[in-house]
Amino acid sequence: MNWESAAFDAIVVGGGHNGLVAAARLAGEGKRVLVAEAGSHTGGAAVTSEITPGYSVPAVAHLLEGFPRRIERKLKLARHGLRYAARNVATVALDRDGKHLLLPRTRKEFAAFREALPKDAEAYREYVAHRRALAGLVAPLLGERPPELADPDAFRRFLRRSVWRAMLKGGSTMQSLLRVLPEAIGDRLDVEFESPLLKGALAFDATLGGAEGPYAPGTSFRAILREATRLQGQGACLPAGGMGALADALAAAIVASGGEIRLDTEVSRFLVEEGKATGIVLSSGVEIRAPLVLSAISPSVTMLE
Ligand SMILES: Cc1cc2nc3c(=O)[nH]c(=O)nc-3n(C[C@H](O)[C@H](O)[C@H](O)COP(=O)(O)OP(=O)(O)OC[C@H]3O[C@@H](n4cnc5c(N)ncnc54)[C@H](O)[C@@H]3O)c2cc1C
Repeated sequence: MNWESAAFDAIVVGGGHNGLVAAARLAGEGKRVLVAEAGSHTGGAAVTSEITPGYSVPAVAHLLEGFPRRIERKLKLARHGLRYAARNVATVALDRDGKHLLLPRTRKEFAAFREALPKDAEAYREYVAHRRALAGLVAPLLGERPPELADPDAFRRFLRRSVWRAMLKGGSTMQSLLRVLPEAIGDRLDVEFESPLLKGALAFDATLGGAEGPYAPGTSFRAILREATRLQGQGACLPAGGMGALADALAAAIVASGGEIRLDTEVSRFLVEEGKATGIVLSSGVEIRAPLVLSAISPSVTMLE
């Protein structure tokens, strides 16, 4: 086996947007970081590809939603070239007769919405307020390190903190959240609304990115989780230049802080000593060690393969 003597404080495996954010934060804190990316571009699914000469489009993911503003600011991504072609993009349900329905974002849009759906408008306002209140309970958990399940004290502290936070928001909100957890979004929408267009748009929000239909248990909570990610980020945005532009800005932030990104560099194995990851082995056979090794690829590949 070949050794590489270059000294790194941290190795990030996988240069998708999650790996890039982790690497940029570590590099920003002065760590010498290596990103090992198997593909020939950074970004993973956040990629812009030229599909025919002169036409480039987001090839997989296309909407940036819920990307925490604090991360965007901390990494100074605007300075590294991130611009938006559109922010807070609306959800529109298309109608066969041309009476399309836009989910309102402003008072003016709400007035038009109320005119189109007088029976559903007030229920919609209440639905949104309720969903936001529940999302407010979930949002603070998103940025937290999950509790160590093997450490009962840490788990207890985590539960106590979460319950306190919920109580501060009012016990009934917590009860509502528990009621919503197993619910199917389709059942909820059938109770609340009449318009199939409105129900379709809201069910889409709750099932996007998942494999279940709107009558699958647990899909109501998906709508809340999505709202929670929005609370810490922004509405759906289109980066100018497609999702690849986000990856480019993150990569620029890493390089500006002295980090190194290696493309076409596949990791075939993690080195583990005494239960701790201590380095990586590339498919070329080269071994690289670092005190911190972070996997930003699929957990099943990381743990099982
Ligand atoms: C069709 C589709 C559409 C989607 N649309 C959206 C959307 O519009 N908006 C949105 O927010 N999300 C969307 N998603 C979800 C989003 O793409 C993922 O959540 C996101 O890509 C996860 O990022 P990641 O960095 O964790 O992983 P990935 O983007 O999968 O990146 C992982 C990286 O690791 C690299 N890698 C893998 N194995 C190795 C190895 N052994 N050694 C070195 N490198 C390795 C890969 O080459 C890849 O670059 C979509 C997903 C799909 C499938």
